[in-house]
Amino acid sequence: MSDDVESAGTRPDPELEQELADGEAGCGEAGVAVPLGHPGGHPGGHPGGATGGQRQGGARSLGFRPGGGAEALAYEERTGIKAPRIIAWEITRSCNLSCAHCRAAAEFGHYEGELTLDQIKATIDDIVTITNPIIILTGGEPLMRPDIWEIVDYAQSRGAMPVIGTNATLITDEIAEKMASHGIPRISVSVDFPRAEEHDAFRGQPGCFDETIRGIRIAKAHGVGVQINMTVTTLNSDKVEAVHDLAESLGVDAFHIFMLVPTGRGSDLLDKELPPAEYERVLAWAYERQKTSPLHFKPTDAPHYYRIIRQLAKAEGKKVTREEYGLDAMTRGCLGGITFAFISHVGDVQPCGYFDMQLGNVKKQRFSDIWTESKVFNELRDYSLLKGKCGRCEYKAVCGGCRARALSVTGDYLAEEPYCVYEPTPGAVTE
Ligand code: SF4
Ligand code: SF4
Repeated sequence: MSDDVESAGTRPDPELEQELADGEAGCGEAGVAVPLGHPGGHPGGHPGGATGGQRQGGARSLGFRPGGGAEALAYEERTGIKAPRIIAWEITRSCNLSCAHCRAAAEFGHYEGELTLDQIKATIDDIVTITNPIIILTGGEPLMRPDIWEIVDYAQSRGAMPVIGTNATLITDEIAEKMASHGIPRISVSVDFPRAEEHDAFRGQPGCFDETIRGIRIAKAHGVGVQINMTVTTLNSDKVEAVHDLAESLGVDAFHIFMLVPTGRGSDLLDKELPPAEYERVLAWAYERQKTSPLHFKPTDAPHYYRIIRQLAKAEGKKVTREEYGLDAMTRGCLGGITFAFISHVGDVQPCGYFDMQLGNVKKQRFSDIWTESKVFNELRDYSLLKGKCGRCEYKAVCGGCRARALSVTGDYLAEEPYCVYEPTPGAVTE
């Protein structure tokens, strides 16, 4: 599932993390715990927007705070390092689609060396010694893995919360029923264009738009929350509003836009990456649109967004406080290595799916040791090491730039973010 690879699964979703951490969002729907749902609109009370909606149920009522369990607290006390709160796990690379922008360059078929069920269980056993995370099961297409429900059940039994990133084309009533009965609160599905013709061309398979929409409807009908993710490139940056409106018409719970990071098969789309000024325009548009969207709508994994909301709020005479801006005020742009990690289909551990560097492998090392000891992880946690204008920037604590993009473009993950138009103000301090 090239889509989910790139969307839900491989990059941190600060909002998701915060929602679950804070128990802010959610509803109980048809007896299915849906802690990520936003029945009443944006949960954060973004200015001008819907303010929170119904919050029956929710993560807190489920007693779930990712990274908030006793093990995570003890781990942080012991090491001074925050435990991961979201782990995206590519449980297979096999996929029934062949999308142009797929990070994993996934194809249909068998991939050598994929983690076995026993290896996955052993890794979960280790992970839960330091944290109780959300685990995003992604791929490839995770529904291609026949033992996915065993993985889901095992993760839950050990205190983690699994969610699924899927291209939705394989969802049938039976699968959606399994999602519901196995307690999957939300799936994320990528939709990049509002019309079948363009989407199918981008995804490399005629008919997949209709299949995806059908899968979304079935999931919703079974009470499973749905988040639509859109990867924004030069091919579709003028269609964000239209995809937003499609998401709204489908009655999904959330709509997140992602900026292409050209690694994997996506590197073929290098020339389709938004130029920095256009990137800026889309994020500024999102800030305005968020005010009125009935969806839980936000740019995800667009680190600059956290600078832009502060700049635009200031221009409106506002401060970005939790009271006014909700979760946007509480999180940071890039969380790779900070509270997020990625595990590949063969067990390689990375800061995120786009950060093309393996920091260890769970077949040979404990995940907990890699998280604690990796030089790269530890450098990513030290913002004082950022170079160039990111190093000088007053927004580096809330933005930090995309480290995967810096790595991909310059070979140095601490280099300045190559896709940022902002020039830091000497001596300025972020409010
Ligand atoms: S200079 Fe770097 S830290 Fe500052 S806003 Fe741009 S990307 Fe973010
Ligand atoms: S490195 Fe880039 S793609 Fe990866 S988590 Fe950070 S902002 Fe997202």
